Amino acid sequence: MTHSETSTGAANDVKTLCSIIREHGAISVVDGVTSVCAMECNPDEWGIDVLVSGSQKGFMIPPGLAFLVANERAWKVYEECKHPSFYWDWKAYRKSVQADSTPFTPAVNLFCGLDKALEMIKEEGIENMNARHKRHAMALRSAIRAIGLELVVKEDKNASHSITSIYPPEGISVPDIRKTIKEDFDVLVANGQNALKDKIFRMGTLGFVCDRDVISAVGALEATLHKLGYKFELGKGVATAIKALAEG
Ligand SMILES: *Cc1c(COP(=O)(O)O)cnc(C)c1O
Repeated sequence: MTHSETSTGAANDVKTLCSIIREHGAISVVDGVTSVCAMECNPDEWGIDVLVSGSQKGFMIPPGLAFLVANERAWKVYEECKHPSFYWDWKAYRKSVQADSTPFTPAVNLFCGLDKALEMIKEEGIENMNARHKRHAMALRSAIRAIGLELVVKEDKNASHSITSIYPPEGISVPDIRKTIKEDFDVLVANGQNALKDKIFRMGTLGFVCDRDVISAVGALEATLHKLGYKFELGKGVATAIKALAEG
């Protein structure tokens, strides 16, 4: 299952789902690509059997490294598995990790970046980092509501803290919003994917993001919508974001 679902901006209740999965004797495999380093994700406490993440999202570095945590239950399944595997053979990795190494040539350049990123993560503290993502996502969500746009994920408790999906106002297209905000303000917002393409746009608060980014992105969005002819109380989104950040 996916913890923070990037195409919709929904967060799954992994803790509850894992306890149900455990009751049925199955193994849980969690995609934590946009939740690890952004939202609380506690494999031991929640009973996640396998947790996977990647370098290109919460870890703030380019793509190319994957991280995997597996508990004893998962290792038991591994031991009993009859499918041959070479590249994905965990045993080779476990053996190498114990020797502080890797079984194959790793992407050494990315390890240099990772070293710095981990230093930053340690300095901020993972709890503070999670809290920052929540604060930014909630400020963005309240700003979006304040300018009268509809959120794909209605309730805050079900929302990802990494990405927020938004419906465009009636009569204004997602490609027009994306093009204008990029050209006028150099702000990138993502389109929807597959069935949601051109139906929603997505704003990220993942990784190396600060209050200024949230305030300026909301301001850029307001100016974009104003230019495209959407009628709303100009400035209300920015004001709401600033207040939410001050209180959060
Ligand atoms: C980005 C992402 C991935 C990895 O997809 P890539 O196309 O390899 O970047 C996996 N799961 C989630 C939830 C993601 O957001």
